[in-house]
Amino acid sequence: MSRFFSKKYASLVPYVPGEQPRDRKYVKLNTNESPFPPSPAVFNAVLEEAGMLQLYSDPDCSILINKLSEVYGVAPERLIATNGSDEALEFAFMAFCDGEHPIAFPDITYGFYPVFAEKNGIPYEEIPLNDDLTVNVEDYIGINKNIVIANPNAPTGIALPLSDIERIVASNPDNVVIIDEAYVDFGGESAVKLTEKYDNLLVVQTFSKSRSLAGARLGFAIGSPELIADMHTLRYSTNPYNVNRMTCAAGYAALTENGYYMQNAETIKRTRAYTAAEIEKRGFSVTDSKANFLFVRHGKISGEKLYLGLKEHGVLVRHFKKERIKDYCRITVGTAMEMKTLLDKTDMILGGEK
Ligand code: PMP
Repeated sequence: MSRFFSKKYASLVPYVPGEQPRDRKYVKLNTNESPFPPSPAVFNAVLEEAGMLQLYSDPDCSILINKLSEVYGVAPERLIATNGSDEALEFAFMAFCDGEHPIAFPDITYGFYPVFAEKNGIPYEEIPLNDDLTVNVEDYIGINKNIVIANPNAPTGIALPLSDIERIVASNPDNVVIIDEAYVDFGGESAVKLTEKYDNLLVVQTFSKSRSLAGARLGFAIGSPELIADMHTLRYSTNPYNVNRMTCAAGYAALTENGYYMQNAETIKRTRAYTAAEIEKRGFSVTDSKANFLFVRHGKISGEKLYLGLKEHGVLVRHFKKERIKDYCRITVGTAMEMKTLLDKTDMILGGEK
């Protein structure tokens, strides 16, 4: 830390993204990326925009927003595009939370939520998940705090039905409820249609997972025109050109080939079911994941040992040191071939344990 670092950030513990090592080629199952490349229109769109990089991007991302409006059936004034959904989430924290409006979220969830809260001086409450790692919906009914819930949750993959989300939103009418749907296309129920009914609901989604654009950084949020206007105020006060030209075009192009991505999501769901069954045969317990990853635990080998063993064998998965989930590993669902490698290497490691 330099002697110039602001005191207000001195105790900030930054979010730790999944490792991106370059020492060798790994089967990379640690950051929930799509194993499928972007569709052909995306390549062409990016190339075309590259020739215009001397010009700033459209601060309103109008073409993309209009396409999102068509695909999701919501008016453009209910949409905002962001630099990854991380940015949408932080704009929401900044816009709606403060000392008088703290935020609550599960103790086991996306690790960026406490970082956004700490960084912006927002008090927060971490509500423990049930022992089986499900969200106890009653804990969120009428709590008079802002709320953020990832649905499906991460890293558990467990999803809440829309009826539970609606109960939470309806019971906290004077607070903003943010539903982070980063993984919704892999089997969750989206709350987008509830945004017309509830002015306190903000749904956040991303192009990073089902739409194969993690490296482009594109997210979006859907909510009442007033919530979205507040987020634009934050956006214009941070970076009006938050979505770059190539990303904007890539997102638009991806939406014109939506069928390709939704088909890929179906493939991932099938591979997830196959892998979950296979890994259970090997003595693992697996949560009921509706996301593009599995959250697994084995009674005979620690999460860290499995993670390190797989890494040594060229397979990267994610291990979290947090006490409650330190026995688990989170495994991104890749191609069928990648999952076969994962299973083979797991067998080798478990074999060595006997
Ligand atoms: N929400 C959740 C639950 C996530 O796991 C992630 C991915 N790390 C994000 C949001 C952010 O994704 P991105 O910024 O790539 O859209």
